[in-house]
Amino acid sequence: MRVVLADLKGQNGVVSKDTIAGGYGSRFRGISWTTRVVERMRKLYRNLPSIQLGYLAAIFAQAGHEVYVTDNKWIPGDLALVLTSIVDFRHEIQWAEEARRRYGMQVGFFGTFATHVPEVLAGHGDFIIKGEPEHAALRLARGEILKGPIVSSTIQDLDSLPFPRWDLVYRRRFGHEVIHSLFSMRSVFPLLSSRSCPEFCTYCPHRITAVYRARSPQNVLEEIEQICRQYGRVFLVFRDPLFTEERDRSMAIAEGIIRKNLPVRFECETRLDSLDKELVDLLYRAGLRALTFGVESVDPNTLKRVGRRPIPPEHQKDIISYCSKKGIMTVGFYVIGFLTDTIESIQATIDYSIDLNSTMALFKILTPYPGTPLRKRMESLITETDLEKFDGYTPTFKHPNLTHEQLLFMLTTAYSRFYIRPSWGWNYLGLPNCFARWVQRWDAYAQRRQREIEMAYFTSQEPKASS
Ligand code: SF4
Repeated sequence: MRVVLADLKGQNGVVSKDTIAGGYGSRFRGISWTTRVVERMRKLYRNLPSIQLGYLAAIFAQAGHEVYVTDNKWIPGDLALVLTSIVDFRHEIQWAEEARRRYGMQVGFFGTFATHVPEVLAGHGDFIIKGEPEHAALRLARGEILKGPIVSSTIQDLDSLPFPRWDLVYRRRFGHEVIHSLFSMRSVFPLLSSRSCPEFCTYCPHRITAVYRARSPQNVLEEIEQICRQYGRVFLVFRDPLFTEERDRSMAIAEGIIRKNLPVRFECETRLDSLDKELVDLLYRAGLRALTFGVESVDPNTLKRVGRRPIPPEHQKDIISYCSKKGIMTVGFYVIGFLTDTIESIQATIDYSIDLNSTMALFKILTPYPGTPLRKRMESLITETDLEKFDGYTPTFKHPNLTHEQLLFMLTTAYSRFYIRPSWGWNYLGLPNCFARWVQRWDAYAQRRQREIEMAYFTSQEPKASS
């Protein structure tokens, strides 16, 4: 059988799919000059193949089928599987319908969007896979014909899966995920050493499709060895939402990389409270060069209301500054527009992001994704009817304290305040700190200018006194 796997290039703005926003994907569109600069940087850095396609390619190839991967073109075949996203599903539907019309192929949809919003895709393909797609792929590879919505059971033993087949996945200029890989000219590969997350953040789509499971360190190391054998020096991006959830397991992976002298550098995402200096040291020796983590809000009460365990600020600062000293890039994620947020609380979160001084910061607007517990609570507040607008950067609900325009203004302000600081560019480029006093003065000037812009905006919003 000829199998076509479609991970379509998103349209309009920087579209990321696969495991971004728990698989719903995001679309980043510059709404001010600072956000446009960040958009360009993200285009440069974010250019990775889909880990899900890597697994599906391996399953079909192992069963003796021919596998083709496309990001745009229609390729003739017997079966096509289309990775879906909330931000670009119309384009994905259009592609699926054309594939059926041109070649009479069986077409199925998979991914988080297909799992939690299958009704939108119904009638546009032959079947819709609900759940992680590997079990359904195993059935298809055995020759089963699937029809309508089908539940793909969760694979409990992740070690039983074959390793992703990157040689079969279209090499879409295998990305430059972070600056380290750009300078060291390493090919970049995604890797999943665990799936889902055992935490309870009610806004998070990472945990809604299946329960947390982890691969054994031996199995992960075998995959890394295989990638190194095929591609030499590589940069790995662990796509696990919580790479260091099990300390012993992440230590065993790091120790294995060191012991086997594998030529890798890597990035991982985790919670900062699952890191300590000893673990950071070990991960660094194994090749850790970039760390991403959620901070979300400075206010512990806001976090508790959305089921997120707050992390003491001193610990966050300590780990971030320790990583910076070691040369590990740090990227913090923040959410603007929690239901308890006010202008002042958002300003405090932006101030906190600057105080934490991570290498980069990404701010998003609270998005009630389908299938999350938060979505159920917010149902009556949702104003947006176009699902593609649930992109992480568009206001989609009536906020108790802020208008849509104010939310967008605060999003722009967050990017401006964080990135316009001369000290940010100075540190990012690693320039000498003998000019620290001058840079601090420029910082103070830039912050003053930004505050004037904010004041002018909020003054213009105040109701005019009647004459
Ligand atoms: S820690 Fe919370 S936000 Fe992060 S992946 Fe887990 S559930 Fe999601």
